[in-house]
Amino acid sequence: MNTEPAKQKTAEPIKVYVGLGSNIEQPLLQIKKAISALNGLPGSRVLADSGFFASKPMGPQDQPDFINAVVVLETTLSADELLNYCQLIESRQGRIKTRRWGERSIDLDILLYGNQQIMTGDLTVPHPGICERDFVYLPLLKLDPEILIPGAGLLSNIVESATASG
Ligand code: AMP
Repeated sequence: MNTEPAKQKTAEPIKVYVGLGSNIEQPLLQIKKAISALNGLPGSRVLADSGFFASKPMGPQDQPDFINAVVVLETTLSADELLNYCQLIESRQGRIKTRRWGERSIDLDILLYGNQQIMTGDLTVPHPGICERDFVYLPLLKLDPEILIPGAGLLSNIVESATASG
């Protein structure tokens, strides 16, 4: 008879970067609430946040400016599970789909999921907007100036060459 205790299967925590944005219904409070919700997800804890960044809206200009932030968390959730939880947090905080790039109480994007590249019907990671949106790459670089974008290289180099070529 095998008397060895059963080995507990533990998933390795993955380091994940999540981008947050809000421009209505007390944006600062919305972002803080969402960070705390992320910290409370199963198998997850927020390791650091970038602080808050103000930005102009990307789409229609007849809406308030945004507040953005990026958090780094470690989680044992799969990318799909995390996406579902992010959407749950959005809906709990009253996110309503309006026009494209319109106003929103809270928006959560999975920017990086470890060093994985994911492309399914629901999820594209690394998030395709990282290198073009200053309100995403500035907080990311603040959290980690040496951060790597899987499949693309050092974020600082990508931003530098994009800036140099106008
Ligand atoms: P948004 O309007 O930014 O909240 O976009 C939501 C949609 O983007 C959802 O249908 C998601 O399935 C999809 N999506 C694709 N990739 C990502 C990602 N990396 N993070 C969050 N949502 C994503």
